[in-house]
Amino acid sequence: MARRLPPGVSGTRFATAVEAFRRALGDSWVLTDGPELAGYNDPFPVLDADHFSPSAVVLPATVEEVRAAVGIANRFSIPLAPISRGKNLGFGGPAPRLPGAAVLDLKRMNRILQVDDRLGFAVVEPGVTFIDLAAHLHEHDIGFRLDVPDLGWGSVLGNTLERGMGYTPYSDHFAIQCGMEVVLPDGEVVRTGMGALPGSRTAQVYPYGYGPSYDGMFTQSNFGVVTKIGLWLLPEPAGYRAYMITLPREEDLGPFVEILRPLRLDRTISHVPSMRSVLLDAAAQGPRSAYFSGDGPIPDSVVRRIMADQRIGMWNFYGALYGTDESMDAQWSVVRDAFSAIPGARFHFAGEHDSPVLAARAEIMAGRPNLETAGIFQWLDNAGHIDFAPMAPATGEDALGLYELARDLYREFGKDYMGNFIFGEREMHQIHLMMFDTEAAGDRRRTLELCEALIGRAAERGYGAYRAHPSIMDRVAATFGFNDHALLRLSERIKDALDPNGILAPGKQGIWPRRLRGTGH
Ligand code: ADP
Repeated sequence: MARRLPPGVSGTRFATAVEAFRRALGDSWVLTDGPELAGYNDPFPVLDADHFSPSAVVLPATVEEVRAAVGIANRFSIPLAPISRGKNLGFGGPAPRLPGAAVLDLKRMNRILQVDDRLGFAVVEPGVTFIDLAAHLHEHDIGFRLDVPDLGWGSVLGNTLERGMGYTPYSDHFAIQCGMEVVLPDGEVVRTGMGALPGSRTAQVYPYGYGPSYDGMFTQSNFGVVTKIGLWLLPEPAGYRAYMITLPREEDLGPFVEILRPLRLDRTISHVPSMRSVLLDAAAQGPRSAYFSGDGPIPDSVVRRIMADQRIGMWNFYGALYGTDESMDAQWSVVRDAFSAIPGARFHFAGEHDSPVLAARAEIMAGRPNLETAGIFQWLDNAGHIDFAPMAPATGEDALGLYELARDLYREFGKDYMGNFIFGEREMHQIHLMMFDTEAAGDRRRTLELCEALIGRAAERGYGAYRAHPSIMDRVAATFGFNDHALLRLSERIKDALDPNGILAPGKQGIWPRRLRGTGH
């Protein structure tokens, strides 16, 4: 028996749809039992634990089975929410935005279809993880690496569709994506860009094709099920050195970003570095209770003790050099001279400091995926997190202003600020990792309230988020309101044209199909 039904679908209709899914995919690949479905809930719920739970999970193994599932979903009005590995845990993991939707889990489609060791690209199915692809490149001695995010267990394709970031010179995953295959909501299969030309020689080397370029339309959207992507690989560098710079004071953030920007713009620093706040790094050597067990946020005096104990800064910057020894020496002398202007800045290469964060970052910035970053969850009992990530211009005023706004709001809500700035060339993502005790109702509520306050206050100052957890997707979409929400209305028009029955991932990124619009799900 299913625990929950999709909205507006009767029990009988749902049972008939489940039968049809089973005939098309095989009994074992359609899940409806409570315990089997529990693994598809939001892993870190800020609302009730089963708020976003699905009615069923459908696991196709081929593009034809995806098409069959989409056909059945249309026939019986079953909402289908695609996931690839469901590991973006701070953004809801595998849970569908619409409670009671069926999850279309693509993990069985896990083939690495092609790796080109001359041009440096790969073509993968949704179920391929960063760890899988990195292992394949290593085992086959391909001479290329892969850009990886903080945790390597997620899907390469899923992370790319969410416009995730890594930390090597190839860090912007959407920018290095080249060619897609998509099953549209009516079951039609489309290849984008040059891949539309049968026998194309350039599907994975030239991204735009002929005519409109559609790839972006299938990112952070609910317009299609992506079944393949091409992505570019990073040539194995001649040499590599990872480093950490610690800064002693809060206010060092502003001048640091002013020094950093020109080095990013002229690519002296050729990759995406990150700047982590003291408590985010301290969490890797938690638990929090070892330092403080009183009420409210950790007091400044305790923060200073943690900095001394762990030999870390108020801010900790992680960067890397890539290239020959000569070129790395030259880059380093520029980087070191520039940041030495900040009094008290300290410089450490990987191996020269016992920080577990530096050791993990050194692997990640080299394109070697791992799961070390998950070590921060020892910080709290039953630790979970919800992520909020506004984008900002890469200036010192913006960095410091956003940080101070956050710091004061966190204090008001009795929470510790744990954040990470990651630096593109002209922009930075301010990633808030809002950690909470998933078993404590009060902490969950306060965390969501803080998150909502931050969305509003950041938007008032001109900062919009780049991604959102299901519980705040509509709230964030509403902040992109220029001209009476013309952008959202455009997405709704596209949604209604491509998906007239409104079956694909309803509500994702605030885009609801006509039949569910304004129904308050
Ligand atoms: P990861 O395991 O890398 O964290 P997910 O599988 O959770 O990635 O994918 C992240 C989000 O991207 C999903 O919640 C879903 O909204 C979307 N998504 C993932 N795979 C697909 C796909 N194949 N087609 C369309 N959207 C997808």
